[in-house]
Amino acid sequence: MRQPMTYERAIVIGGGMTGILAAKVLSTFYHQVFIIEKDEMPDSPKNRLGTPQAFHPHRMLPLGKQIVERLFPGYTKELLAMGGFNTLDQTSRFITKDGELTLTDIEETVVTRRAMLEWVLMQRMLNEGQVQCLEKHEALSLQLKEGTNQVIGLVVKDRHEKPGRIFEMKADLVIDTSGRMSKLPKWLKDAGLSLPQTNELSVSLGYSTRYYKIPPEAPYQQSMVVVGQPERQIPTGLFERVDHDLVAVLLSAAGGSHYPTTDVDQFDSETAGLTHPAIADAITHLTPYTKPKGFRVPSCVRYHYEQMNDWPSGLLVMGDALCTLDPIHGQGMTKAALEAQVLERMLKQVQKNQQLSFEKDTLQQMQDANELGWWLCAIADMAWEGVELKSETTIPHLTFVQEFLNRYVQYAILTKQPERLEAYHQMHSFLTEPRDIINLEQLHAMIQADTSGETAEWWSQWDQKDDERNRAFFHEAVPDFRLQQLLLFN
Ligand SMILES: Cc1cc2nc3c(=O)[nH]c(=O)nc-3n(C[C@H](O)[C@H](O)[C@H](O)COP(=O)(O)OP(=O)(O)OC[C@H]3O[C@@H](n4cnc5c(N)ncnc54)[C@H](O)[C@@H]3O)c2cc1C
Repeated sequence: MRQPMTYERAIVIGGGMTGILAAKVLSTFYHQVFIIEKDEMPDSPKNRLGTPQAFHPHRMLPLGKQIVERLFPGYTKELLAMGGFNTLDQTSRFITKDGELTLTDIEETVVTRRAMLEWVLMQRMLNEGQVQCLEKHEALSLQLKEGTNQVIGLVVKDRHEKPGRIFEMKADLVIDTSGRMSKLPKWLKDAGLSLPQTNELSVSLGYSTRYYKIPPEAPYQQSMVVVGQPERQIPTGLFERVDHDLVAVLLSAAGGSHYPTTDVDQFDSETAGLTHPAIADAITHLTPYTKPKGFRVPSCVRYHYEQMNDWPSGLLVMGDALCTLDPIHGQGMTKAALEAQVLERMLKQVQKNQQLSFEKDTLQQMQDANELGWWLCAIADMAWEGVELKSETTIPHLTFVQEFLNRYVQYAILTKQPERLEAYHQMHSFLTEPRDIINLEQLHAMIQADTSGETAEWWSQWDQKDDERNRAFFHEAVPDFRLQQLLLFN
């Protein structure tokens, strides 16, 4: 039988981006909220051992910004005042083998180092006094009420002094936000529970990032993406403004047959080998600021805890601990923000309706919120040879969707329609349904624009020769992600 919800104490495991957003949401519902973080928290914006990915540039997508602004009003202005780069009215180049388009950002968004973003949000929250962060504290295991399936707290190790003091902390709700290395699968197995099949995208992804300073005399540096060519194993290159005087250059490739170099001497020459010389040219005006540093992601994993009928009460999981996406798409923090919004909505609902199956319904809704990101990642990454989806379900008409999207981008570029490319980015930012882009009307426009007849010939292999059946084919290939419903915050 369900226990009635109590709102005394909640504990969040991990003080990364998801942990901060979850704790902020919980602070308006619970009398006490603790973050348990195994790292020593820095006294200024610095990278930490527990978040090694923070060296690499972290983009916040517009939806993520919108949610974070609602939770931490004014954080964008605060980061801008601290030297963040304002994207408002800035242009960026999107370069492919077929040509390029320039996009202009019409929103004020701040680009800054991940450590800076995390530090500002954490300080704001701690200063408000409703959340406490226990640094150098490591969650060791879940504590279940004897003979039940109810989580009543955590076993925690205080690491301030060796060998560490181990103690129990009681809580009405525990949320695991400990990231991609989460121990939750082991803890659940230790509690005698069996786990559903996970989805795994074996991406074998390699990242290499190097930072450059912009000298005062350097010409204007706009951000750019040079899209890679999976079929030729050519990495994607990103040239991104980070703070007002810093640029991150990032090379990324999936599939595992080539990991971008982290060698100082080879980094610039590998950049010159991208499908377009724009980034290599831009670097010549800049001063190297760091050595290149790598990051490897063997696979993206999506747990299906919502399928467990015996999922413990008093327990939730969010962020990378629930589902990791390929970082090159820059969606992880926005996904975390979307999950935090689900948590908020569900806490409001359960206050009105105590009968709601809070934990299972919340997990299900978070899973729904992750569906589009997972689908987009799988489609993009499986274009690289060697990337495989290990899952009980397959992606229907995968090749068709991959090829349609490639042709759509090519069409936007060749017909010089930046608004089409914007729509494509909006889809990757969880703001536009894929069905608004991948549909029969769009296909007809692409066929008409292609005077060579090549698009028509490509389509002939899928054509069902009947409008109604073609529509059914598109519906089968492109799920309805019900974004409007997911984006509701009340
Ligand atoms: C190379 C790279 C680049 C990326 N770029 C982007 C980007 O551009 N945009 C974007 O939105 N996302 C990006 N991401 C994804 C992003 O980093 C994460 O999705 C996002 O930060 C959410 O992470 P999290 O808070 O769930 O986990 P994490 O950020 O990994 O935080 C987990 C925290 O839990 C702590 N912890 C772990 N175990 C314990 C324990 N047992 N007890 C106590 N504490 C514990 C860790 O110390 C850490 O502080 C990138 C990821 C990578 C790998």
